Amino acid sequence: MNKSKSAELYNRSLKLFPGGVHSPVRSFKSVYGTPIFIEKGDGAYIWDADGNKFLDFCCSWGPLILGHKPPQVVKKITEALHNGTSFGAPNHYSLELGQLIIDNNRFIDKIRFVNSGTEAVMSAVRLARGATGRDKIVKFEGCYHGHVDHLLVKAGSGLVTFAESSSAGVPNAFANETLVCPLDDLVALETIFEEHGQNIAGVIIEPIPANNGLLVQDKNYLIALRELCTKYGSLLIFDEVISGFRVGFEGAAGYYEITPDIITYGKIIGGGLPVGAYGANAEIMGFVSPDGPVYQAGTLSGNPVAMAAGLAQIEACLEPGFYCNLYHKTADMMESLNQFVDEKELPISFVQVGSIFWIAFDENRITKASQIESEKMIYFKEMHKHLLENGIYLGPSGYEVGFVSAAHTKEDLNFAVEKLKEAMMVAFEEVSS
Ligand code: PMP
Repeated sequence: MNKSKSAELYNRSLKLFPGGVHSPVRSFKSVYGTPIFIEKGDGAYIWDADGNKFLDFCCSWGPLILGHKPPQVVKKITEALHNGTSFGAPNHYSLELGQLIIDNNRFIDKIRFVNSGTEAVMSAVRLARGATGRDKIVKFEGCYHGHVDHLLVKAGSGLVTFAESSSAGVPNAFANETLVCPLDDLVALETIFEEHGQNIAGVIIEPIPANNGLLVQDKNYLIALRELCTKYGSLLIFDEVISGFRVGFEGAAGYYEITPDIITYGKIIGGGLPVGAYGANAEIMGFVSPDGPVYQAGTLSGNPVAMAAGLAQIEACLEPGFYCNLYHKTADMMESLNQFVDEKELPISFVQVGSIFWIAFDENRITKASQIESEKMIYFKEMHKHLLENGIYLGPSGYEVGFVSAAHTKEDLNFAVEKLKEAMMVAFEEVSS
């Protein structure tokens, strides 16, 4: 595979940007080679600067649930663009997007649009503190909530890829306000509440943890979490930046039928442009400025272009059968792969929730970050190399999940299954030789 143009662009980037990238996990530090530069995307495929074509399972880390440049999204963006990109004033696109979300979501009454998942989480945490008058936040080991200072403690995503449990530059005073609990451990959670319950403003969780593998929790555990928050008057924050509009229109709240107090969104609601949002019932949202005392603002928040993109994308998600189709084609792919690993007796399992999947290098169910053995990521490294050379693009870290979009056809997924089978065999041969 010719990668000379990507290599040249990367070498130039190294002189200009830290690590040559604008987000650490793009840097190929935990896989072979150097980052490939993407020139264009269409449907389920992307092309790099050297003209190599890949079937894409990264999908920009989740936002592209319709695949690349879906015609209805491009049309709506173009329509908005013709009238200007941003006014710093209300416009009808944000109204339409908000209305569509709230009309089809039982879990929030009001929403505020921001510009990224990180911003959504940062604002939701401030809202929880402002609404309760308390300071402490509980988070779970392995859950990633963006690069918010006090949540960069035992997080997933780039932090786990680079084996860092926390970030430099976060004052201890901030980190001290964060209590970290292992996932899937009710006793630990109860202990934290017994010791600190009166000071806990909120508990933030990815209800479907997808940044440190795909650590699917028991519904009963999430119900117990809900009950503990209610008992102690702490607000439950579902970080649905990945799961929102992905596992169903109502995200994980709808999937589990559990009502959180505050929900954060990102990724899919922006149709591939930078958007985040947080929502809650009317009473809690009443604390947000200018109605209430919790300040939060944004120059480009709710800009017409991003709102138009989100509107077109989530309109498509509301089509009958949309999530059912996505689920079934992903399930067929997972079933073929799990059958194969069973036949070959490979210690691998393919884990799925909706159209999210993860390759676990373990036969047993994994529900906690600590159960993932980092040395097994060597298998992912070998697989990633083989897949890239054979036209399949996965995000360059074994801790990250893959996404299937509406643009992936059955033929595309069958092709992926064959390549993944080959990649597993090659990886196990390479590592054992
Ligand atoms: N929360 C979760 C659950 C996420 O997965 C992410 C990003 N992957 C974020 C927050 C942060 O979003 P962003 O990268 O848009 O700031």
